[in-house]
Amino acid sequence: MTATATDSGTTAYGVVDGDDRLRALRAGVAEVARELREHAPAIDADPERASLPYDSAAVALIRAAAEPPERRGTTHATGVLAGWRGTCLERVVATLELARGDAGALLGAPGPALAGIVVDALGSAAQRDFFHDRVADGRTRTFFAMTEPAHGSDATALETRLERVPGGYALFGRKRYIGNAARGGVGVVFARTGASPLSIRAVLVERPAAGWTARRLDTLGLRGAWLSEIDFDGLPVAEEQLLGAHLPASRRGLWGAVRTFNNVRIQVGAMAVGTALAMLDRVDELAPGAPGGQVLRARVEAARELAYRAAAEVDRNPDPRAAPAVAKLAGSGLPVAVGQWAARVLGPGALLTDPLLEKWVRDARGFEFMEGTSNMQRLHIADGHLRRGPHRAERPS
Ligand SMILES: Cc1cc2nc3c(=O)[nH]c(=O)nc-3n(C[C@H](O)[C@H](O)[C@H](O)COP(=O)(O)OP(=O)(O)OC[C@H]3O[C@@H](n4cnc5c(N)ncnc54)[C@H](O)[C@@H]3O)c2cc1C
Repeated sequence: MTATATDSGTTAYGVVDGDDRLRALRAGVAEVARELREHAPAIDADPERASLPYDSAAVALIRAAAEPPERRGTTHATGVLAGWRGTCLERVVATLELARGDAGALLGAPGPALAGIVVDALGSAAQRDFFHDRVADGRTRTFFAMTEPAHGSDATALETRLERVPGGYALFGRKRYIGNAARGGVGVVFARTGASPLSIRAVLVERPAAGWTARRLDTLGLRGAWLSEIDFDGLPVAEEQLLGAHLPASRRGLWGAVRTFNNVRIQVGAMAVGTALAMLDRVDELAPGAPGGQVLRARVEAARELAYRAAAEVDRNPDPRAAPAVAKLAGSGLPVAVGQWAARVLGPGALLTDPLLEKWVRDARGFEFMEGTSNMQRLHIADGHLRRGPHRAERPS
C-alpha cells in the first residue's frame, strides 16, 4: 500500500487512498452528492412534499449502483461508476460520500436499496426481474420490513404471520420503523409460517394492495427516510412471492438474509461516518481551527478506514461477524460526539442558527438503531472472536 494525502490533508495508508479507481469513484460520487445537500433542508422541513428531483444525477447514481450491470444503461451516473462491480467496498465508498452530502435525502431516494440486496441474494431469476422492472421507472421507492413494535433487536421473535389460505398465503401483523413503507411501491416483508426461526420467510410485496395500510411516523431525525408503520390484515401472498424457494431451508428467509446484513451494517457505519465528516466540515467553515477538531477528525478518519477495511474483508469472506460490527460500532456514535463538540465550540444557540448542522444533530441518533444497536454489535463482535480458530480467521457460520 502507498502513503498518500487524504482529502483532509493527513497522510494515510488507506485501502482506498492507494487505489486509483476507488479514489476516482470517491471523488465522482462526492461531486454528485452535492445535490443531496442542496435538497436536504427542504426534505427535512416537509418530507411529505419535498423530494430529490427524479431526473437528478444523484437519483440516477443511487439507482444504478444497486442495479444489476445489464440494466445500468449509460448516464452520467454510470460514468462515475466506471468499472463498478458492486463489491461491498465500492458500496461503502459511495454510501459514505452520499451520506456526506446528506443521509436523510439518501435514505429517501427511489431505487432498490436494502430490499434490492435481499431480492438479489434470495430471489429467483424471475423474482429479481420482477423487482428490478418495478423500480426501473426511477421513481419507485422500496421497503424492507423486519422490525415490529415489540421486536427490533431480536428478529427471530417477530410475530407477523404468513398464514396458509386457499390459493396461497395471507399476511397478518404490524411492522414499525420501516423506511419508505408508506410510499414504497415494492419491498420485502419478513413473516413466519410457524414457531421455528427457520419458518421465517421473506416475502416480495407489491403495493397498492388490499390488506395493507401504512402511515408515515413523524420522526425527529432522518426525516427523509419516511419511517413508517404498516398493518397487514390478510394481505394476499401468492406462492411465487416467497423468496428463496429454490434454496435449502437453512438459507431462506432470515438465515439467508443474515449474510446481506454484514454488508448493510457497514453501509450504516459509513453513513454515520459521512454525516460526522459533513458536520466537521461545516464547523470548520464556521469556526476554523476550533480546539479539539483535529482529534475528532482523526477519530472519524480512523472509523472511515475501519469501514473500508471491513468492507474489503466482507468481499473476501461474506460471513465475518466481527469486522462489520466493529465498523458499525466505531462509526455510529461519531455524529453524536461531533454534534456535542460543535455545540461546545460554536457556543449556545449556534446550532439552531445553522439549519444543516441543526438537522445533522437530530439525524445523529438514528445511526445507533439502524441495522442493530451498539449493544447488538458488541454481541456480534464477541461472537466473532469466539468463532476465531487458531489462525485467527473466523469460521464461517
Ligand atoms: C433511521 C432508522 C431507520 C430504520 N429503518 C428500518 C427499516 O427500513 N426496516 C426495518 O425493519 N427496521 C428499520 N429500523 C428499525 C431498527 O432496525 C430497530 O430500531 C433496531 O433493530 C432496534 O430495535 P428496537 O428499536 O425495537 O430496540 P430494542 O430491540 O427494543 O432495543 C432497545 C434497547 O435494548 C438493548 N438491547 C436489546 N436486546 C439486547 C440484548 N440482547 N443485549 C443487550 N442489550 C439489548 C438495545 O441495544 C437498545 O439499547 C430503522 C430504525 C431507524 C432509527
